[in-house]
Amino acid sequence: MDLMGKIALVTGGSRGIGRAIADALHAAGAGVAILDRDAERAPITAREIGDDVCAMIADVTNPDQVASALATVEETCGPIDILVNNAGVTKDGLLARMSSDDWDAVLDVNLKGAFLLTKAVARGMMKRRWGRIINISSVVGLMGNAGQANYAASKAGLIGFTKSVARELASRNVLVNAIAPGFIETDMTAALTEAQRDTLRAQIPLGRLGQGMDIARAVVFLASDHADYITGQVLVVDGGMVM
Ligand code: NDP
Repeated sequence: MDLMGKIALVTGGSRGIGRAIADALHAAGAGVAILDRDAERAPITAREIGDDVCAMIADVTNPDQVASALATVEETCGPIDILVNNAGVTKDGLLARMSSDDWDAVLDVNLKGAFLLTKAVARGMMKRRWGRIINISSVVGLMGNAGQANYAASKAGLIGFTKSVARELASRNVLVNAIAPGFIETDMTAALTEAQRDTLRAQIPLGRLGQGMDIARAVVFLASDHADYITGQVLVVDGGMVM
């Protein structure tokens, strides 16, 4: 799938799934910028992916930082054609013990961050009559998960956001889709014990946890011309766990 000539921005792109996505988009020929809040790691990851990959430092919840990072990407790389809202956090706990700070922190990054980035890039995409916005949700947004009321609400919210914006932007050929990963091997799932992994594997028909590249390949597909007639959808990439 050829993304030559396209410019992609991946939030939370310095590690985990975001890094795999940035790598795959770059391998498909896109110009890539990663946006992350870690000022040390982001430039290192960018260089490891390719000399031409830019690293922007911004917190996705901060409108001023987002605006200034996007302006720099557009000046140095060109207008953004593909936005991947991947940055995400968890602050797990049962409802009875969940603080409103933990609720706000997760909703702010996972949902408001996607809103701020999407709003900022949508205008240019609409003017140019071409754009792809891909939101990284989660199967937890479809199924719920005990101990993750804040995270599940943010990921379910991201699906509603995806469908609404898809309807608003479709007439300008800006396609908006979500991917719902299952359990993927990253720092976010590193705390799982071997016993928990065995329990999970037993629920996954394909018998393994996913890798970042499993999600990255789905992103490249949705960003490509092969997905020209797909918008407002949730692509579940989970080894068959949720059917
Ligand atoms: P990681 O925790 O490994 O990486 C998340 C990245 O997002 C980090 O680089 C992190 O930066 C960055 N980030 C977090 N908050 C902000 C912020 N406010 N501004 C800018 N960047 C930020 O997560 P994964 O790679 O595992 O997950 C990526 C996405 O996929 C998330 O949205 C997650 O919810 C989703 N997902 C993951 C699954 C999994 O099993 N791993 C399953 C389903 C969905 P920093 O290092 O500074 O924290």
